[in-house]
Amino acid sequence: MALCHSLAASLPSGMATSLTFAGATGTVTGSNFLMEHDGHRLLVDCGLYQGERHWRRMNWRAPAYDPSSIDDIVLTHAHLDHSGRIPAMTRDGFAGPVWCTEGTKRLGALVLRDSAHLQEAQAESARVGGWSKHDPPLPLYRAADAEQAIQRFRAIDFNRPQTLASGAVLTFSRAGHILGSACALGEFGGGPVLFSGDVGRATHPLLLPRESPPPARTVVIESTYGDRTHRPAEQPHARMADTIRETIARGGSVLIPAFAIDRTELVLRALSELTRDGLIPEVPVWVDSPMALAAWDIYRDADLRHELRADLPPRVVDNLDLRTAHSATESARLNNPSEPCIIVSASGMATGGRVVHHLQSMLPDPRHAVVLAGYQGVGTRGRSLADGATELKMFGRYVPVRAAVTMDDEFSVHADRDDLLTWLRELPTPPEQVFVVHGEDDSRRALADAIRQELGWIAIVPRLGEKVRVD
Ligand SMILES: [Zn+2]
Repeated sequence: MALCHSLAASLPSGMATSLTFAGATGTVTGSNFLMEHDGHRLLVDCGLYQGERHWRRMNWRAPAYDPSSIDDIVLTHAHLDHSGRIPAMTRDGFAGPVWCTEGTKRLGALVLRDSAHLQEAQAESARVGGWSKHDPPLPLYRAADAEQAIQRFRAIDFNRPQTLASGAVLTFSRAGHILGSACALGEFGGGPVLFSGDVGRATHPLLLPRESPPPARTVVIESTYGDRTHRPAEQPHARMADTIRETIARGGSVLIPAFAIDRTELVLRALSELTRDGLIPEVPVWVDSPMALAAWDIYRDADLRHELRADLPPRVVDNLDLRTAHSATESARLNNPSEPCIIVSASGMATGGRVVHHLQSMLPDPRHAVVLAGYQGVGTRGRSLADGATELKMFGRYVPVRAAVTMDDEFSVHADRDDLLTWLRELPTPPEQVFVVHGEDDSRRALADAIRQELGWIAIVPRLGEKVRVD
């Protein structure tokens, strides 16, 4: 896919610095941006596409650049839609460093190992089921590729400029989205470019808040919630609390699909506070996701403690009757809980993982309930449930949805429209141009309109493969 070669010809050569939008245009996944200067090349984020099939297919297309020609990868945070393609890059010839923060380095290793495991498992089940176009079915990459990628991670501190292999200077600032998340300022001698990565809300329940952005001539901003405003909650997580109370009272159990990274931590913190305040009964809380348990350990690691809020109690969820399901057998037992309980399991949009087995056995029983903890992407099982599906397909069969389904949208760790505009207003000087990425097109256009109208700045909704000058 030679997306940018024809455009490349139209740029003056020499010391120009260019930026190519190689992903995350038109959708909230697949983050990938290429900066080029005088023969040097760096990528900011290198994520997988997720969600609907036509986007996931993009993961199989060759990138618009030769992986061996890239000097550095800068990784804003560990989420798969920002990091998930790096193992394919190292397998295909990328041999440079992957720059990130310490938190991202630790969480990123978890995410890439899990991703490679899933890719291999899917290829194997396609082989057994005989439903792949490839013969034999291939994983996008393998566990060994993920290990190679992890070896390339280089952790640097926030707010300490670092000269990269490409000669660019990189500075991270806190984004307040998940542990380790950063905004990345990249500069090839002139015209600094600021990549927002994913921006957190004004406060995060566990992490230090995001920092004000540094000055930049060009800004590339995410727009996941560019057309929405989160409503402030009078009583935090009231809908989830109501659902839990009612479900436990009728002898049922509550299933909470949650992302293993960050979201499980937030769900546990919310359950801990609701229990402390007597708003939900004390029942066993199962964490059924090996990855979530590993991520929870990283959040609590003493080395990263300084990234957490200073006002957190030392042991955040000690008042919960917390139980952990490590083995597949322990997990299978939770499909038919013997007593009312709460099960927190991944993945967060029920696209895979142990939670799908729980849904299959719990959805047909009207005693149970499912609480969806945050944004559910188009084309996912979570989105179907949120939209009121009466049947849901799992493992090739439809099951009836008789369990109660509640949406708790207070778990978002993404800035909304107002948060994003506030973040932009905090720039010390107005940028010359703002590019709006990492959102559905409606969302990107809405945020670009708001930037033009409220800030009077140039705001562009770039298309896939578009190349611009940023020097
Ligand atoms: Zn993210």
